[in-house]
Amino acid sequence: MAYKLDELVGSGTFPRGVHPPERKDFSAGMPIEVMPSPGEVLIPLQQHIGAPCESIVKPRQEVAYGELIGKSEAFVSAKLHAPIAGIVQKMAVTTLPNGRHLSAIHIKANGEQLEGKKLWQDVFGGDWPKDVDGKYDSAKVTRAINEAGIVGLGGAAFPTHIKIVNNEKKPVDTLLVNGCECEPYLTSDDRLMQEVPSAIVSGALLSGLSIGVKDIIINVEENKPEAVAAMRGAAAGTGIKIAVLKTKYPQGSEKHMVKAVVNRTIPLGGLPSDVGVAVSNVGTMAAVARAVLHGKPLTHRIICVTGAGILNPKNLLAPIGIRYKELIDYCGGLTSDAARVLSGGPMMGFAFTDLDMPVTKGTSGVTILTREDLSREAETVCVRCGTCVDVCPMHMVPARLALAARHENIAMMERYNIMGCVECGCCAYSCPANIPLVQTIRVGKAILAGSRKK
Ligand code: SF4
Ligand code: SF4
Repeated sequence: MAYKLDELVGSGTFPRGVHPPERKDFSAGMPIEVMPSPGEVLIPLQQHIGAPCESIVKPRQEVAYGELIGKSEAFVSAKLHAPIAGIVQKMAVTTLPNGRHLSAIHIKANGEQLEGKKLWQDVFGGDWPKDVDGKYDSAKVTRAINEAGIVGLGGAAFPTHIKIVNNEKKPVDTLLVNGCECEPYLTSDDRLMQEVPSAIVSGALLSGLSIGVKDIIINVEENKPEAVAAMRGAAAGTGIKIAVLKTKYPQGSEKHMVKAVVNRTIPLGGLPSDVGVAVSNVGTMAAVARAVLHGKPLTHRIICVTGAGILNPKNLLAPIGIRYKELIDYCGGLTSDAARVLSGGPMMGFAFTDLDMPVTKGTSGVTILTREDLSREAETVCVRCGTCVDVCPMHMVPARLALAARHENIAMMERYNIMGCVECGCCAYSCPANIPLVQTIRVGKAILAGSRKK
């Protein structure tokens, strides 16, 4: 497929990065299935970047599907809604795959639930108009997003009402819609683009209108030709451009997409808005359309359950708060040689063992690896080959960062700017000495962040 370089200011790719095996074939051909409604859900009070919510419901209270159950007065936060109809239980405490312990609203199902086609119709059915100009104003769109509790569904979970807003002091001229899904294995965005492209287009048009951008560009890697075709068809006549980018990891990272598409460089520690760009995931755009056009909150998301360690890989429309175990059971269970469960993909995901944990708004997939997938040689000493430096898309010195982190050397972590690491994992993936560079750097970042709070 030819790149549409004439439509792009950037080159369609970025320097450095890696080409891990894509392994999308486990689930890429599986249409989205509606997960049966669970008997209970656990809704952590903080599923986003920013302030945690406070529960506004009490034990034994009955809640309806979609009802507001948690909120915060803080600007940077995201409201929570009941993904099933049920009865609120005693407040629970849960742990997420990233190790965070959080209070959670426990709801046991009660009464009739939306299931199957009815749930699909509720989430993705109805009209997805393209003629939104003049019918919606910026404030109305941003308010609807805020009320719906939408966060970035690509994994970052940043509250969307803060991004999709008109800011005269910091004007944004371009909205980049992220459909790259560069993480190996994961296919939820790919399937969403193929199956519900019109919702993504409506959400992008409403978001673009709200921000006041000149250009909207939907970005897809070239390894997803069906998604490209679907997005082209849905966007026809709207003025939205489709950019087909080279397949390379981490093309879906905001900084690298901005470079590849509009050739602007986000300063270290900066945001896309610093260079006049907003970036939002395709799933987020569909959620925006649903919130603004249909008045529906974020209660469900697409979750890909994949890998050689699961019997029947699937892409599922599942309620937020369902336990990982139920997703895995619905997909036939683990294979006899399953060895590791990851929330997310193998490059940026978190390994965890307690399958009773709930999925959150930021959960895009569950990858189950086998013993064979994990068979790698033992860690040895750094051979100073420089490969980690060559592949780091943030132009860092990963070996130094890891060394500083291992020794908890705050000054060295600061000097080498450990916080600029986007935790993409390119360094660890490429290291011939099998040093867990990104894992060590992650710990270092937490140590540094902790030391700054003191
Ligand atoms: S140092 Fe950070 S940004 Fe650079 S390759 Fe490693 S994980 Fe990615
Ligand atoms: S890739 Fe591994 S062995 Fe090579 S310099 Fe980096 S840390 Fe050392």
